[in-house]
Amino acid sequence: MLDDFSLEQNIVYKTLINSVKNNKYSHAYLIETNGYSKGLDLGIAFAKYLLCPNSYSNNKKCGNCSQCKNIDKNEFIELKIIDSEGQWIKKSQLEELQEIFSKKSVVGNKKVYIINKAEKLNPASSNSLLKFLEEPEEGIIAILITENIYQLLSTIVSRCQVLSLKNKIKLDNLSTKEKLAHYLSNNNEDIEFFINNEDSINKIEKVIEFIKYYEENHSNTLVYINKLWHEFFKEKQDIYDSFTIMLLFYKDVLNLKLGKIIQVFTDYVNDVNIVEEKNNLDEITSKINVIMDLREKIKFNVNNNLLMDKLIIELERCEKK
Ligand SMILES: [Zn+2]
Repeated sequence: MLDDFSLEQNIVYKTLINSVKNNKYSHAYLIETNGYSKGLDLGIAFAKYLLCPNSYSNNKKCGNCSQCKNIDKNEFIELKIIDSEGQWIKKSQLEELQEIFSKKSVVGNKKVYIINKAEKLNPASSNSLLKFLEEPEEGIIAILITENIYQLLSTIVSRCQVLSLKNKIKLDNLSTKEKLAHYLSNNNEDIEFFINNEDSINKIEKVIEFIKYYEENHSNTLVYINKLWHEFFKEKQDIYDSFTIMLLFYKDVLNLKLGKIIQVFTDYVNDVNIVEEKNNLDEITSKINVIMDLREKIKFNVNNNLLMDKLIIELERCEKK
């Protein structure tokens, strides 16, 4: 029930309730979870609020009408929840949704679809969704839920009303490994796994070693890239995560440059310092952009050798001689 979130997420809660009460709901909402674990539950509760006829006729907390009951049983045809199949949300899933939603509403005058973990949209499914969002049909409402808004196409983000949830977990006093676990996933099992896996520290330090080697040797890094990288990072998910770690490292370098506190790499202040001294502000921001752009490409079936060669070449372009 949407009311369950009235305290924990009071701002988003009020925004959603008011948009329905005033009949001014958006065609698309993008809920940014910020590590809050019940983002999907909130999305479903909101969908229920939109679809239950009693939300409009009175203020009773329903849950008892046939719509509400069918939603609970996941049998309500006017609500579709899309989740990733394997690593990505596929284009075919979006096409299927459009096919179903092109038919006339049977029950009410609204249809809602939820895309959970929207950061798992790949380029093909992103484009399908974008077409759907560009031509909003009366009564069709999208709720996108994402752990990481920066992984979505900006053209998708700009078509949505963005709602940012408050994170309950305070990361301040955690170790770098624990913080990274929360940045790399929102799933409790994955977080536990990363924290307890002995290999995680190796991963973190391998990424830092690579960065430091690059910062010292620039394009010469290409010669040692096997030892520095390929022997260690092989799986697609590992490579993606290592790029996220790299990105967060450079963001801390940026924090230090701007005189802000180091957020994630608190256990590696010395390393952040070394890299900060080698870069000016422009260089750091360009490098962050390079890593973000290339990380997107990992979603394609990109060749790992080419990916790393390209990374080094592009980083080199950021250096002001
Ligand atoms: Zn109801």
